[in-house]
Amino acid sequence: MPLAETLEKLSNACGVAGREEEVRSLMKKFLKPYVDEVKEDKLGNVIGIKKGKKNAPKVMLAAHMDEIGLLVKTISKEGFLQFVKIGGIDDRILMAQKVIVYTEKGPLHGIMGSKPPHIQKEEERKKVLTYDELFIDIGAENQEETKKMGVKIGDPIGFDIKFAKIGKDVVIGKAFDDRVGCAVMIEAIKRLKNSECTIYAVGTVQEEVGLRGATTAAFGIYPDIGIALDVTIAGDVPGVKEFEAPIKMRKGPSLTVADYGLIAHPKVLRLLVDVAEENKIPYQLETGLPGSTDAARISLAREGVPCGVISIPTRYIHSPSSLLSLKDVENTVKLTAAAIKKIPEYF
Ligand SMILES: [Zn+2]
Repeated sequence: MPLAETLEKLSNACGVAGREEEVRSLMKKFLKPYVDEVKEDKLGNVIGIKKGKKNAPKVMLAAHMDEIGLLVKTISKEGFLQFVKIGGIDDRILMAQKVIVYTEKGPLHGIMGSKPPHIQKEEERKKVLTYDELFIDIGAENQEETKKMGVKIGDPIGFDIKFAKIGKDVVIGKAFDDRVGCAVMIEAIKRLKNSECTIYAVGTVQEEVGLRGATTAAFGIYPDIGIALDVTIAGDVPGVKEFEAPIKMRKGPSLTVADYGLIAHPKVLRLLVDVAEENKIPYQLETGLPGSTDAARISLAREGVPCGVISIPTRYIHSPSSLLSLKDVENTVKLTAAAIKKIPEYF
């Protein structure tokens, strides 16, 4: 399956943190042909193992399967759903969104409603509506009907956005954070015909709520080196200063020097930079990001694991739809595969 198609399938799937089932089954299916074994651990992480030579380093790749979203908190007598947020969601992006409520009986379409602007007071119109002032309308007549439709407290709610190609090499879609990392991981494994290292390709759960899946997966695997594949903010849009977000779309994968939770291990960073330069793969160096990735937790497993992060520059992350360049995705795959090949020379 071509890389863009893998990304499309993963992006359209639902995987609100803690409810990654749909993404997990795709990950198992997509990894299976290219690894020796696919496992699922107790927390729900998917682990594809590609065996290498005896005594060669063990490398853990991590891409998180979960996405930000909402959970049903209360259902009003009139049949409206109120919700809580899962992961970092800005209230300003919620209003008027089309959403899908994933119930046991199947998905339900809905719209994020609010008090109509016409009847809002002057001051009300100026302020941002916070999530607790919004509600989801699934067209139900009353609370009773929502129950018949299958809605339960705690059901996950995702944004109703379909993947689309909008430019020569540009695609838009839901949850590129971090389905694009998942797609890169699958493609890199696919292209690595043989590798000296034993590779653990891990689709992690619950990253958006505190890097939880990576914590247990890294404890179980205890790799010699860890690489997180994730997205980073592409700041090449109006109103963003270079200093605030210097990474740009179409300029190649970003290599983390340091972020809020990780200082990349110098040997891992050296390896990634050397590989990019030797293979003439464009890359960008990034430091000072306020967020972090699965690598932060992998690096602290047991006695510690040297870690690095390769990120795909992505615009509008943590909003319903984001945008990225397939050229950057391709270069990230190339860099990841080439780096894995070269690990035994460095570790
Ligand atoms: Zn992410």
